Amino acid sequence: MKIALLCRNADLYSHKRLIEAAEARGHQIDVINHLRCYLNIASGDPQIHYKGESLKGYDAVIPRIGASVTFFGTAVLRQFEMMGVYPVNESVGISRSRDKLRSMQLLSREGIGLPVTVFAHRTSDATEILNLAGGAPVIIKLLEGTQGIGVVLGETTKSAESIIQAFGGTDTNILVQQFVKEANGEDLRCIVVGEKVVAAMIRRGAEGDFRSNLHRGGSAEAVKITSEERTTALKSANAMGLNVCGVDMLRSNTGPVVMEVNSSPGLEGIEKATGIDVATRIIEFTEKNAKAGRTRTKGS
Ligand code: ADP
Ligand code: GLU
Repeated sequence: MKIALLCRNADLYSHKRLIEAAEARGHQIDVINHLRCYLNIASGDPQIHYKGESLKGYDAVIPRIGASVTFFGTAVLRQFEMMGVYPVNESVGISRSRDKLRSMQLLSREGIGLPVTVFAHRTSDATEILNLAGGAPVIIKLLEGTQGIGVVLGETTKSAESIIQAFGGTDTNILVQQFVKEANGEDLRCIVVGEKVVAAMIRRGAEGDFRSNLHRGGSAEAVKITSEERTTALKSANAMGLNVCGVDMLRSNTGPVVMEVNSSPGLEGIEKATGIDVATRIIEFTEKNAKAGRTRTKGS
């Protein structure tokens, strides 16, 4: 197969592993930096120009589009889709996952467990927002945040209200969410590939931090998940329309609650914690599914 790896930095662990895994299985895999692509939007003949050439002959594209370049990255991916190249994740699924509000709306429609969450833009009525979220303690998140930045714990009614008001002055969208205390600063990440959870790990926050992000100094280890957690992960991937994703959940008293579905899950943490070769699973999935013209959306 001839595979395009759509990413900005070929030296990242995840990308190096995907290249290794594809080559080990006899494929040609080319790194295409989506930010250097030019799209030719002529009627009926979609093309992508890269380094002075028109890209041709690809069987599959593996998108690894960073959150900050979602707009242009998904446009390039959509162009591949319009050319009939099989995308491991479709552009629409990636756009959905990058929008926390839209994601949670879709997950809730499927009856997937979620923490009680209120979205707001005008935050002048902090008391009402807080009440709707079930009262303090709550987690307040900036919608544009990533890797745990912009996630704050409002422990008391007073502090929660003042945080909500402070964010309100900055013209941003925020999310106020029930604090799942019993999660104990741990979250569960399940990696879905196709119809399977291929690996799962539990992430623990740095001492004294309720956030379990690895980028914030947390640690991770392999974990055996329950069948309810497995079903939740698979239903979430399905609701988002993602073949490959990381589903992050908290273990709450009422069962698993999903926080986020990540369409470009990092491979380093999960492969090191579990010893599972997730990169090869992704390549095998690609082999099974890539046939010219498999794209359902054709970029719509
Ligand atoms: P980001 O998308 O920026 O990584 P998250 O929404 O994943 O932010 O939150 C970061 C971390 O904070 C999570 O991994 C989790 O450990 C913790 N956390 C987030 N929301 C809650 C919540 N409602 N209750 C308890 N802990 C939470
Ligand atoms: N982008 C990273 C991922 O999806 C963030 C995870 C983290 O902070 O632990 O794996």
